[in-house]
Amino acid sequence: MSLAVTGAVHDGEVVGLRAENGLIVELGPGVQPQPGDDHIDAAGGILVPPLINGHTHAAMTLFRGYGDDLPLMRWLEEKIWPIERKLEPEDVYWGTRLACLEMIRSGTVRFWDMYWHAPAAARAVADAGLRATVAAPLIDIDGRREEMREAARRSLDEIVVAGDRIDAGLAPHAIYTVTEDSLRWIAELAAERDFPVQIHLSETEQEVIDCLAVHDERPTRYLDRVGLLSPRTVLAHGVWLDDDELELIAERGAVVVTSPVANLKLAVGAVFPYPRARAARVQVGLGSDGPGSNNSLDLFEDMKVLALIQKHAANDPAAIGATETWEIATGRRAPLLGAGAGLDLGHPADFLLLRADAPELSFGELPAALVYAASGAVVHSTVVAGRALMRDGEIEGAEEVLAHALERARGLGLAPPVASPASSA
Ligand SMILES: [Zn+2]
Repeated sequence: MSLAVTGAVHDGEVVGLRAENGLIVELGPGVQPQPGDDHIDAAGGILVPPLINGHTHAAMTLFRGYGDDLPLMRWLEEKIWPIERKLEPEDVYWGTRLACLEMIRSGTVRFWDMYWHAPAAARAVADAGLRATVAAPLIDIDGRREEMREAARRSLDEIVVAGDRIDAGLAPHAIYTVTEDSLRWIAELAAERDFPVQIHLSETEQEVIDCLAVHDERPTRYLDRVGLLSPRTVLAHGVWLDDDELELIAERGAVVVTSPVANLKLAVGAVFPYPRARAARVQVGLGSDGPGSNNSLDLFEDMKVLALIQKHAANDPAAIGATETWEIATGRRAPLLGAGAGLDLGHPADFLLLRADAPELSFGELPAALVYAASGAVVHSTVVAGRALMRDGEIEGAEEVLAHALERARGLGLAPPVASPASSA
């Protein structure tokens, strides 16, 4: 399979790009399509690296508009956890396909997913053509230790065979939903088989208070003591981390993925201490968190909010710049997230073409236009492994995905029923 892009603008220069077998083989002025190439005429569109969503629960697209405006624990305990017990693999498959559709549309090509029936999510990502690190959550404070461990082990084996664009991982939900014994078990399994681990950490102040009360140490120190703070670890949120914790995270080589929109929506009471994390040399990525608590998967929005909330919290408009924000959103400040080494020969042919006619991109410096003015609507084409998943706004099979997702949501009692002719009269 080969692809050629002509007439794209990259770093201010008109270039072409050719990809063969998923890799970039030519990039520069004068590159022309070869016989047999799939050809995209970018017509002056801007060539940029794609976005990386470092933390989400993709299939929760089905839960949009369900239990909005509740505090985190009430939202989980009263709304989300009860309905999640009814989920079947097909619900997760179509919920994840819908999420992939939205991500392709808004320029995200790789994401870190933590959700039930993870093998079904992995299958959805493979079928959608995206990349992901997929992990089944583990929660065992309800006493289901052996059952959850067996499910985690089984799902790892099933995810591994989902395809070469899918990586398997482990996902203890949080330190307050997983026993110390199981956290240690996960740490050993991750080290033994070299799997990445994602966990929610320090999202609310209550989590810190409870951890101090039970373990007499802060969440990051506790996680380190059970062996789970390593260069394979992705920590979601980290809103309440103190300086000692940030230094420890940097020292261990773990990554923090901040989800500013979800933090604001769930009113967690503070802002991720980005300037202090940067000073401590912590690797940082950006995540949307689940579409049940964001509720969008358009990472352009999260990117803008990240920059604005950091400036606001620091009372300093220079607290974070547009270029830095763009680097975080494209995964270049946290290699573990899997962004790759960028647009160059021999690297994976993952990229976006942005609309040449987008008014938001017409003036000023590009990173600033992307971070402060653009939305996902500026994405013209999304290419993963040399395959155009979206071309001029068109995604093959999009209507079918939406119809199936709606049907699954209705089956869970979460979407309005189809209006009958009598009721619409
Ligand atoms: Zn989350």
